[in-house]
Amino acid sequence: MSPEWLARLTALCGLDSPTGDAAALAQTAALLANWGRADGLEVEIRETPTGPIVVLVTQGTGTARTLLIGHHDTVYPTGTATARPVRVEGDRVLGPGVADMKGGLLVGLSALAELAADPTSTHGRVEFWIVPDEEARSDEPTCLDEWRGADAAICLECGRADGSIVTSRMACTWLTIEAEGRAAHAGTERDSGRSALMALTREALRIEDTLHAARPGLQATITELHGGIGKNTVPAHAAASVDLRAASVEDLRWATGIVGQFGEHDGVVVRRSDEPGFPPLTRDAALAERTLALLESVGARGSEVLAAGASDGSWSSSLGVPTVDGLGPIGGGDHSPDEWIDAASVAPRIEVVRRLCQ
Ligand SMILES: [Zn+2]
Repeated sequence: MSPEWLARLTALCGLDSPTGDAAALAQTAALLANWGRADGLEVEIRETPTGPIVVLVTQGTGTARTLLIGHHDTVYPTGTATARPVRVEGDRVLGPGVADMKGGLLVGLSALAELAADPTSTHGRVEFWIVPDEEARSDEPTCLDEWRGADAAICLECGRADGSIVTSRMACTWLTIEAEGRAAHAGTERDSGRSALMALTREALRIEDTLHAARPGLQATITELHGGIGKNTVPAHAAASVDLRAASVEDLRWATGIVGQFGEHDGVVVRRSDEPGFPPLTRDAALAERTLALLESVGARGSEVLAAGASDGSWSSSLGVPTVDGLGPIGGGDHSPDEWIDAASVAPRIEVVRRLCQ
């Protein structure tokens, strides 16, 4: 990791960019665009309702079209960047967004800059798409259609602690279940009430018991259960969230159907509303093996994992574009105060990303 690279990381993580904060995201977008121009790249900023998308491009003499994919939003609220500036501790760099995924953005930017500066490079068109809303979105990025037809996509979420890259990801979705019963005084008229909370609790137990691990890789988790307005009232309303993850879209659909098979709850009405969710990232054998071989050739040997979490690499994969993920710096502690990257992993990852684009 060069001092210049660390200086850029410090500056980028020194700007808060919480999802949905258009003014903050405009600042990170402008900084990335300035560096892109300084590095000899074509730069485009596209305004969208959720903030600017930054597109950095280098056009070489080759014919292949490669996508780099990242996001410049983070999960941290305003004030985090000032409270926890980037710091180096031994082999690690810590700070808000270093792993998820401002470090990955700078790996991509460095790789692109090297390609643009090398007149002998054989790369074709390399497009770096940096979106503003990955952390909060539960459906496709607004620019998805433009990724169609690319020859490969490299997503720059962080590498795993053991150096592994991500060659496949599960499909996932989130369902909301709501129940409507009838309120009543829990003492004097208890039996005329209909408890929405009890109905939903029974459904929550059924859903996890029936679905979790029912098929290989299938995960079902009740992540929220709310209800009631006070300690002496039969709760008339309750709501729950279900997090579903599966190896295939078919399994996800099957599980969603089972969630909706609600039982009879004596006057309580239960209904489900769905979010579109993320498709799986399907492993592309040729790209996975090429990436692993390149890692080994730069002395950064790693393995590959199937990840339960989704990323925008899931979307490029859904278009049939061969996709590999986890090419950002090795790191972890995402969405926590301990978020870190491994300084020594930066240079080899830049090298591998650059060579994947050629
Ligand atoms: Zn991320």
